[in-house]
Amino acid sequence: MTAPPPADALVGAVEAGGTKFRCALVRDAGDVLAECRIPTTEPQATLGRVVEFFAEAQRRFGAARAFGIGTFGPADLDPRSPGYGRLLMTPKPGWAGVDVRKPLIERFGRPVALDTDVNVAALAEAERGAGRGFRSLAYVTVGTGIGGGVIFDGRMRYGAMHPEMGHIVVRRDPRDRDFTGVCPFHGDCLEGLASGPAIRARWGRPLDALDDHGEALDIIGGYLAQLVVALARLTACERIVIGGGVMTGGALLPRVRAAASRLVNGYWPVARGDATLMEYLVPPALGERSGITGAALLAQRMR
Ligand code: ZN
Repeated sequence: MTAPPPADALVGAVEAGGTKFRCALVRDAGDVLAECRIPTTEPQATLGRVVEFFAEAQRRFGAARAFGIGTFGPADLDPRSPGYGRLLMTPKPGWAGVDVRKPLIERFGRPVALDTDVNVAALAEAERGAGRGFRSLAYVTVGTGIGGGVIFDGRMRYGAMHPEMGHIVVRRDPRDRDFTGVCPFHGDCLEGLASGPAIRARWGRPLDALDDHGEALDIIGGYLAQLVVALARLTACERIVIGGGVMTGGALLPRVRAAASRLVNGYWPVARGDATLMEYLVPPALGERSGITGAALLAQRMR
């Protein structure tokens, strides 16, 4: 057993998103010393700016002992794989095949842990947010894409890949028959029907900017509820956290709960005690800091 690092040891955290990268230099105890946001452009320029940020921040505050990255995906997360650290067939132009760990390893020579953006957000919510006091939690984000992670006893769940729950097949709303969906791989999978781009493709603007958005909220809420109920049924997790840009504003969550309640139809054996859907399906307690907090937690786990 190696001794735990001192509480004033530093770690670097990166939330690598499809539209922006967020970076932070953090004490192991949790306080943020320096932070920045970098727009996601082409890979070399974006990762170059990440390295520059950490070089400058470490000059001011000291060296990070490890880094944690929560990345958009899909990504190869298997340390035994020759492609470990590389992004897979992402539709984001130029990013497929990019090794997101390499620039930090080459420049700073410290260990770099990698997971998906949603898995690290799930970790943060499980340890510091809405999942505290529970053994298990699922985290779903609804934004440019739809993704999610599942945590049991502090561990992310994997098999051949990280979960890709945004691409499940859902039952069509009868009011939404004519829309073909926007997923480049499947058309009308959940992401193709209920992500931010799917909402814009149908109605020309985000949900909260629609004049009469009641029906749109119902349709999107109905699709997301199908994932919520499937997650509860498949994993029996004790909490589901749902966040992301499409959920902001708060009008959609009650529709998701209402639709999930209709789907459940009284058969709800997974919830602990008398937990209702109000308590079971909740927004992220850490708000938009779930991702960067989880990336820091991932780095802190490196020994
Ligand atoms: Zn799809």
